[in-house]
Amino acid sequence: MSIIVQKFGGTSVADSKKILAAARKAIRVKNEGNQVVMVVSAMGKNTDVLVDLAKEISDNPPAREMDMLLSTGEQVSVALMAMAIISLGHEAISLTGAQIGIITDSTHTKARIRSISTERIRKALDEGKVVIASGFQGIDESFNITTLGRGGSDTTAVALAAVLGAASCEIYTDVDGVYTTDPRIVPEARRVSRISYDEMLELATAGAGVMHNRSIEFAKNFSVPVHVRSSFSDNPGTMIVHDPEAPNTAVCGAAVIKDEARVTVLGVPDRPGTAVAVFSKIAAKNIAVDMIVQNVGLNGLADMSFTVDRDELPATLKAIEKAVKELGGEGYNYGDDVAKVSIVGLGMATQKGVAGTMFRSLAEKGINIQMITTSDIKISVLVDRQYAQDALRTVHEAFQLHKPPEEGLARAGALPSHVKTDAAELVRQLERVARLERMEKLIIDDVALDQTQSLVTFVELPDMPGLAAQTFDELAEAGILVDMIVQSIGRENRANISVTVPR
Ligand code: ADP
Ligand code: ASP
Ligand code: MG
Repeated sequence: MSIIVQKFGGTSVADSKKILAAARKAIRVKNEGNQVVMVVSAMGKNTDVLVDLAKEISDNPPAREMDMLLSTGEQVSVALMAMAIISLGHEAISLTGAQIGIITDSTHTKARIRSISTERIRKALDEGKVVIASGFQGIDESFNITTLGRGGSDTTAVALAAVLGAASCEIYTDVDGVYTTDPRIVPEARRVSRISYDEMLELATAGAGVMHNRSIEFAKNFSVPVHVRSSFSDNPGTMIVHDPEAPNTAVCGAAVIKDEARVTVLGVPDRPGTAVAVFSKIAAKNIAVDMIVQNVGLNGLADMSFTVDRDELPATLKAIEKAVKELGGEGYNYGDDVAKVSIVGLGMATQKGVAGTMFRSLAEKGINIQMITTSDIKISVLVDRQYAQDALRTVHEAFQLHKPPEEGLARAGALPSHVKTDAAELVRQLERVARLERMEKLIIDDVALDQTQSLVTFVELPDMPGLAAQTFDELAEAGILVDMIVQSIGRENRANISVTVPR
């Protein structure tokens, strides 16, 4: 018998009718001869309501108590879902994270999964029950309730699919799949039929809230095919798998994070150990740093800029004050009115002119780029928050993302078939069990050294719209494939841009 994991997000269980509809979906799959595990989120906007309540009581609620509070949302939904299934004539059991045995670390409000036991779930499934698991929660070694971070029910679902060796993991939500960008912000966005794990991970991290980014790490590491689809229609949805929709397109999607804040540490000594001194103080407060840019040092001094979640700005500034004192830096400044816009695509690693196209489109709208960072398959720019939506729509249009990839480029290939139980599968199961020990441990799986690149820095360019566009248009025209791009925050209306290019 195959195990199917079905996850229902908040809007998909927002009222009793929707809970019953979700229950019927699970029963249908069970009647087809499968075992079903449902993962359920808090009803509607319940988690937001709880967060607001806590904020009414305290400006700075203790993280442990936040987890205690927020985990109740999911407990309500699973109980109601079990009642729904039972009322429709089938057996069911609801379980909290602790009852399943989802053990996490103790980083309250953003805990990482250490291990999951499958005994209780398997026993219930073998007894013919639909298992209804609370999303987004676990317990640490001292039995404190933890949560996995907003949107974390996706991660619960994919993690359960991984440990149970499920044939598929279906994510039921309020959109009918993954789009080239958030269709609520850019209505022209197009649903993609499939997307690779690598692209989805970058998009989710860059702000595509349709999937919790950590769920994609699980999916990739354990080869779980994820099917994102609508709770309210039978549209085909999107498969998240190893292969991209079209291997040669430079850009598959765009995303925005509106609530970022930027911090710049000014004039710190340009020598080994400076970055550690700054970032270890921030890490000690469990604050995740997003973009990081260090400008090329002049006169033995460097500026370092980075972004954090806007909510974490006050705590970050406290950490930075300490670091600046220790290092004897000139000081720091910050901006809490910035947003990050990113484009993602496997193809951009090998294609020229991608950066130039992005920067040119923004320049034509008069949108100034404050910072630039890149990875192999992503380019991110920091812009004034008031331009966030406009910038997203502009880059979406610039890469014609509303159009399907060119014919011939799209790989038609069949969607991955359900896993069969054979010898090969047994071996895979054993390998999977060996990896379970590590679950969400941060693993560096590759280290590379590239000695074929040169660094070029354009210094003291005027900090105004169109600057990056012009630079990169000319590089593309000359047929130069640019690898890393870094633009640091401007100082006195001057900015530096650094690129690496083949030597
Ligand atoms: P759920 O409660 O079901 O987990 P979420 O609100 O977390 O639902 O995620 C679905 C929402 O994600 C959509 O309503 C959509 O506005 C947003 N979204 C952001 N980026 C994308 C994208 N690239 N594709 C589809 N939806 C997206
Ligand atoms: N209920 C939690 C949230 O709103 C978890 C989830 O829905 O995935 O973030
Ligand atoms: Mg979600």
